[in-house]
Amino acid sequence: MRRANRAAVVRTVHLRGATSRAALAAGLELNRSTIKSVVDALAADGVVVESLPVGRQGAGRPSMVVTPCPRAAWVVAVEIAVGWLTVAAVGLGGGVLGQRGAGPVRREVDPSELVGRVADAVSALSAELGSRPSAMGVAVPGLVRASDGLIRRAPNLGWSDVPLGELLAAATGLGVLVRNESDLGALAEHVRGCARDVDDLVFLVVDVGVGGGVISGGVSIDGAGGYAGEVGHMAVRRDGRACRCGSHGCWETEVGEGALRRAVGLPSEGPRSHLRRELVRLRNEGAPPPDELVEYGRWLAMGVGNLVNLLDPEVVVFGGLLADALPLVVDTLTEHVAAACLLARPTALVALVPSALGASGPLLGAAEVAFAGILDGI
Ligand SMILES: [Zn+2]
Repeated sequence: MRRANRAAVVRTVHLRGATSRAALAAGLELNRSTIKSVVDALAADGVVVESLPVGRQGAGRPSMVVTPCPRAAWVVAVEIAVGWLTVAAVGLGGGVLGQRGAGPVRREVDPSELVGRVADAVSALSAELGSRPSAMGVAVPGLVRASDGLIRRAPNLGWSDVPLGELLAAATGLGVLVRNESDLGALAEHVRGCARDVDDLVFLVVDVGVGGGVISGGVSIDGAGGYAGEVGHMAVRRDGRACRCGSHGCWETEVGEGALRRAVGLPSEGPRSHLRRELVRLRNEGAPPPDELVEYGRWLAMGVGNLVNLLDPEVVVFGGLLADALPLVVDTLTEHVAAACLLARPTALVALVPSALGASGPLLGAAEVAFAGILDGI
């Protein structure tokens, strides 16, 4: 019981930051004397500090504010993206204590070379902080088997069947959890972003392809092998374009980066900066979006409508290029999603919101998946 109460307090201050003893007691439905003894023990162990509330007014005894000590426990968060590698130390409470831009990642990079670079970065961060991390979370752009971190397929890295979880565990001696970057983006928005306090959400991201993550009833939907959420490859058009997955007419061929580029009058391939500039220009212009972009919005709505009917989320979060495009297509999207979801959402339309965390989502999600396994033992 005592251990469960301690874990509940640690979890709350990790996710919420500074919290008064009174709020902890109310939120966890524990009496004040129990909270006091748990917090006193955590403070004695250097896990939290207590302080008087700032700017307090009124009479009566103040409720002490409990704040997590970032260095009481820290994890390594790794993001392997197409183009670069980031290794960060994330402390209790979710703040980044140190970061190593561990250099560019080229296509077809040798996994053992990459593992060596991560291990070097972990050693450097450990030396800098004067302590060892407790666990590691890794975000990867590909299909990941959740049980052991095997990268089944990562087309943009040119990897297939790479036992990344085992390689990283052997090189660092840490417990390692590897997940798909979109699943971690969803987790980060749920825990620290625009969908806090929302237990049912769908996260969609356009970044070359289309990625997705689903949280249902507060739990990440992984599927039998951990491959769930490949929303970009829902079949939407029987006579559609060839997809890079080998199939035809996937949702990605209608709403991926190439499709968005064509919708604003750019060639299918080219610098990302040109696309972003064009989206900004169209937003600033304030005129009705061009017909091609309205059509893009309809294809987007088709997939979003299917997902809403299937999963009944409260919120759909749009990340990557979709966050940039959302203001231009939101009217089309709202109209067509509402029409597609008369049964699932007859009264209130699901909220369609841009990502709050942007490009830092997968890294923060990697930290959270690592913390999830250690918070109970702090
Ligand atoms: Zn496909």
